[in-house]
Amino acid sequence: MKRRTFIKKSSTIGIALSITPSFAFANEIEYSVLELMGKEDIALYGEGIQLRKEAHDAFLAMKRAAYSDGIDLKIVSSYRNFERQELIWERKYLKYTEDDGLEPLAAIDKIIEYSTIPGTSRHHWGTDIDIIDGYRKTSGDVLVPEKFEPGGPFEDFKKWMDGNSRKFDFHLVYTDDPKRRGFKYEPWHYSYAPISIPMLTAYRKLNIVQLLRNEEFYGSEHFTTGFIKNYVRNNILDINTALL
Ligand SMILES: [Zn+2]
Repeated sequence: MKRRTFIKKSSTIGIALSITPSFAFANEIEYSVLELMGKEDIALYGEGIQLRKEAHDAFLAMKRAAYSDGIDLKIVSSYRNFERQELIWERKYLKYTEDDGLEPLAAIDKIIEYSTIPGTSRHHWGTDIDIIDGYRKTSGDVLVPEKFEPGGPFEDFKKWMDGNSRKFDFHLVYTDDPKRRGFKYEPWHYSYAPISIPMLTAYRKLNIVQLLRNEEFYGSEHFTTGFIKNYVRNNILDINTALL
C-alpha cells in the first residue's frame, strides 16, 4: 500500500472511531434484506439455544451465573425463520376469521397483540429469546404475564433477570411501560443488544411497506400503507429504549 493511501485510510478510520460511540464494529457489518426478514440460513449455535455466536456465548455466561443463584434459564423459543412465523400467523388468522368469525382487520389486530407479521419478527435475527425458569414446574402455557408476577412460578426468575440481565447485554424488549404501544408486555422476551441494535438500525432502512405488500400469506392482502406504517411505529419501534 502506498504511504499516502495508508495515511488517508487510517485518518478516516480515526475519525469514524472518534465520532461513533458504542457498537462501532458491529455497525460495520451489513445485514441482507433476506437475513433481516428470516429468509436466509444463518449460522446458529448451541443445542436448544440456536443463537448467533456472540449472543450464544453471552447467554451461556448468563445461564451459568443464574445457576449459582438457583435459577435455570430455559429457552422456550429463540431463532424462528420466516416460514415458521408464517405458519404461526396463518394458523391464528384462520382461527380468528373462520372459527371466531372476526373480520380480517379485526383478526389482524388481535394477532398483533402478541404475534408478529412474518418478516418482521425479532426472532428472525438470532439475537432474541423467550425464556423461563426451567426449575419451576407449572401447568399450561408458560408465556403468560401473570406467571412472572409476585406469587407466580417465575417470580424469582423475573427478580433475577431484573437485577442481572443487563450485565450480559440482554434487555427486555416489550416492557410494562404503560405509555408503550405495540406488542403487549412480554416479561419473557429478551434481546442481545450488541447485535440486535445494529440489526434494528439496518431493518429501519428497508422499505418495509413495499416488502410486506409483496408477501402473499393469509391476510396480507388487507395490509394498507397506513396500517404498515403504524405497525412499524408501534410494534417494531415502540420498544425498550435501551434497544434503540
Ligand atoms: Zn419472543
